Amino acid sequence: TTQAESYEFQVETRQLLQLMINSIYSDKDLFLRELISNASDALDKLRLERFNDDTLDVDTSDLHIRIELDDSARTLTISDNGIGMTRDEVVDLIGKIANSGTAEFMRQMKEAQQEEEAKTEELIGRFGVGFYSSFMVAERVVLVTRRAGQAEATRWESAGEGTYTLQPVEDAPQGTSITLHLKPADPEDRLFDYTDPRKVREIVTRYSDFITWPIRMASLQVAGEGEEAEEPADETVNSRKALWTRPAGEVTDEEYAELYKRISRDWNDPLETIRLNIEGTLQYQALLFLPERAGANLFSPDAKHGVQLYVNRVFVMDDAEELIPSYLRFVKGVVDSQDLALNVSREILQQDRQIESMRKRLTKRVLQAIKGLAANEPEKYTKFWGEFGRVVKEGLLQDFANRDAILAICSFESTHDAEQRTSLRDYVERMPEGQDKIYYLTGDSRPALESSPYMEAFRAKELEVLLLTDPIDEVWVDGMPEFEGKQFQSIAKGDIDLTSDEADEDKAKQKEEFAGLLTWMGEVLTKEVKEVRLSNRLTTSPACVVSDQNDATPTLVNLYKAMGQ
Ligand code: ADP
Ligand code: MG
Repeated sequence: TTQAESYEFQVETRQLLQLMINSIYSDKDLFLRELISNASDALDKLRLERFNDDTLDVDTSDLHIRIELDDSARTLTISDNGIGMTRDEVVDLIGKIANSGTAEFMRQMKEAQQEEEAKTEELIGRFGVGFYSSFMVAERVVLVTRRAGQAEATRWESAGEGTYTLQPVEDAPQGTSITLHLKPADPEDRLFDYTDPRKVREIVTRYSDFITWPIRMASLQVAGEGEEAEEPADETVNSRKALWTRPAGEVTDEEYAELYKRISRDWNDPLETIRLNIEGTLQYQALLFLPERAGANLFSPDAKHGVQLYVNRVFVMDDAEELIPSYLRFVKGVVDSQDLALNVSREILQQDRQIESMRKRLTKRVLQAIKGLAANEPEKYTKFWGEFGRVVKEGLLQDFANRDAILAICSFESTHDAEQRTSLRDYVERMPEGQDKIYYLTGDSRPALESSPYMEAFRAKELEVLLLTDPIDEVWVDGMPEFEGKQFQSIAKGDIDLTSDEADEDKAKQKEEFAGLLTWMGEVLTKEVKEVRLSNRLTTSPACVVSDQNDATPTLVNLYKAMGQ
């Protein structure tokens, strides 16, 4: 046999491992969810590879995941006969921080560490952190893997302390087997013993019940003093039932929440569950979820979409962005189609008319669900909008076909109520006789907008003004023709006539009276302004600078500058 060679982890990986080893995170169970999900991914990949090339010399006859518990050796081994890894892949995927989720975790971690420990622990729960989470429960991890179709296998071993070893092995079965040498059991708490089959069965059904692959479990338990451990029989632990194929009335909220947690890697329950069952020429089911909280990189350029695509219950791809527009990228869930080919590629999805129609349908359904929240569950809606409103508003710029539907679910800060946002509908309903425009002001923050001189006349006349403080507001509102026949009017732009007819006469008189002053000011300020005119928009401030109707406002100018234009 060849000698095991020792290698050093990258700095970041070492830091992450230290965190895992020292973690006091209370819900350590999640390590198993991570390992099962990796095993399931490996089986999916093999199935797909085989599908695309059926001459491959791989065994797909009994794809499964197996968990073996050994009480006396204090080990938990999880194996799969999936795709496996080559030596290089082991080095790349296990030795380094491979996925962007983990990288993002590390970034947030560094921020959190300056604050407090509790936050760090919460982050572990939120991110899961994949393979590395095994080191929360194991003092040593041995991974043996053989890439399907190849002869050579690799053994990787580490105690998580800075180095790992690699060694070629012979006669390893296809796929990956990971043995966790568990930390000593806490004698105070048998529940935290991962060699206990009851404990493991419970975790598997809680998190991995819908895994399409059978998860089998066998446990070697020493029966008593001097007895031999019996060769255990395998039992299949997961139900493998895809919720979306079951009648809606039979599925409980808990089951939905479990599915949500598995696919979203969120530790919280979903805010809302949306179910769709389309029959007819195009058949598909969808189970979509609105999360309670925005994920870590919702606004980063490579933000992942959360919808998985299945074909006949077989997983096909993650982040199926063709199925849901980017302004709904926070939506998580599963779409299972009976009409697509298993080997459908992203390129095909992009051109497929069926996908186009599914996307339209799913989009409408999600918007409808948000509308339902706004109408029937204001608390949930408020929470939702606080987390995702900014993203949804991107739709006002992207999805013209649904623009009215999106406007209808938006809510904005307003001078009407300092505590609560208002919908446009409610704003329009409150408009007094004679007001025919929706007034708004854009800027950085509510206090800044409230103290703006533009506000004075509106406050004096008790006219409600929407306070738009998201940078994106500036962009969409500019091109928005109207809402329910009412135009949007910035109170910082153009000449707003807030006066009655009598006041018009006064105005004419005033104009004469101040003509000399205005001309003089116009000449003095000729470089700075286009025009100096009398205004009725101020009550206490003597003067203010106003943009022309078509000019960019200061916020927009800043936004463009920020975007480098
Ligand atoms: P993620 O699953 O988010 O990519 P992980 O840390 O869980 O991150 O796993 C890192 C990578 O290691 C996976 O993407 C996969 O390529 C590889 N890997 C992990 N477990 C297995 C396995 N059982 N079989 C094959 N590859 C695996
Ligand atoms: Mg993983």
